[in-house]
Amino acid sequence: MIHSVLMPEVSPQATWLGQDPTLPSIILNSHYDVVPALREHWTHDPFDPKVLENGLIYGRGTQDMKSVGIQYVEAIYRLKTAGFVPSRNIHLLFVPDEEIGGVDGMEAFLASEQFKTIQPVAFAFDEGLANPNDAFTVFYGERQEALLNADSGCKHGDMKKRNLGDVTTVNLNMLESGVSRDGGETHALNVIPTKADTAVRLYLPSVFLLPQAMLDEWCSSEGLSWEFVSWWKNPLHEHYTTSVDDDNVWWKLFKQGCEEIGVPVETEVFPAATDSRFLRQLGIPALGFSPMNKTEILLHEHNECLHQDTFLQGIDVYETLFRHMFAREEEN
Ligand SMILES: [Zn+2]
Repeated sequence: MIHSVLMPEVSPQATWLGQDPTLPSIILNSHYDVVPALREHWTHDPFDPKVLENGLIYGRGTQDMKSVGIQYVEAIYRLKTAGFVPSRNIHLLFVPDEEIGGVDGMEAFLASEQFKTIQPVAFAFDEGLANPNDAFTVFYGERQEALLNADSGCKHGDMKKRNLGDVTTVNLNMLESGVSRDGGETHALNVIPTKADTAVRLYLPSVFLLPQAMLDEWCSSEGLSWEFVSWWKNPLHEHYTTSVDDDNVWWKLFKQGCEEIGVPVETEVFPAATDSRFLRQLGIPALGFSPMNKTEILLHEHNECLHQDTFLQGIDVYETLFRHMFAREEEN
């Protein structure tokens, strides 16, 4: 069904050839890694996926984001079978390591020879989140992620009017200290340790940038130090967003497609980091979208699942969107 499949040094990529391969292309991105699962909190084995009697597709990655990667392929298969040819090349991209920062995934891909062969890129689809209500949520930006500490920009009560992507959050994810002679099994509680490590995950909304000078000041005045975690080699220092005004033709086409489907669209800032930030940094418009309305957000949760009807409807959604968006013949 797909004209060519590349398995080069970075990421598997398949290309659906368009009528004019010289037009800027489109990326359909999905990451194939998942977060860990704690078996004791799941009712079934999270890595032995199955459809339960109640119609739920159950297993780690069902929402984040195996469903989307499969829906892309199925929608393309239907369109190709029906004789539809996109105006430009469409690249299906499957990348690793999104859940650990994307340094060796999307970031490496965008720096690779492989990426050079598909430039220029006009637009990209990437992952979104489920929406518990009737609407689809589409993400046009994301909070800046860092792994350290900062002040909050949110007053109590504000959350009622805001989404998670609009506020600062600080998660203390690791604390490690103590004096132990058995590798951490037991600790000498009457000895003060000489060293303590902590890992903090900080998400900043688009109105803030990482306050590095403030962190330096806080830490030096207490005789402490901070640094980015070792694999966080190249933290972004800017917020990059995709326009969701009608001046962005891809947004306009997406919105028209959703109107045709009959589902309202809500725009948000993604509450965490995704591969889209690397694309947006290069100036490529990217929308984070997973067609899962009327669905509880269960990514990274215990008992992650997706109803089979929602999954199948998602293929219909992409089929309609792709037919509408990929027929566009103008340059960008
Ligand atoms: Zn994801």
